[in-house]
Amino acid sequence: MKCPNCGNRTSVEIDIHSEGFSAEESPVKECGECGLVWRIRLVSGKPEIDIIKPGK
Ligand SMILES: [Zn+2]
Repeated sequence: MKCPNCGNRTSVEIDIHSEGFSAEESPVKECGECGLVWRIRLVSGKPEIDIIKPGK
């Protein structure tokens, strides 16, 4: 999926929440371009971007 910060499509999935993983939370992704770390959470059925580490 596209990086919400810079729009780059080069992202890698990283696994920093191996425990407590729920269906409401997608895997954590890191942008290969700007370094943003984020994931998509479903809030009331709608995807919401959850920024874990800001990008450059
Ligand atoms: Zn990015």
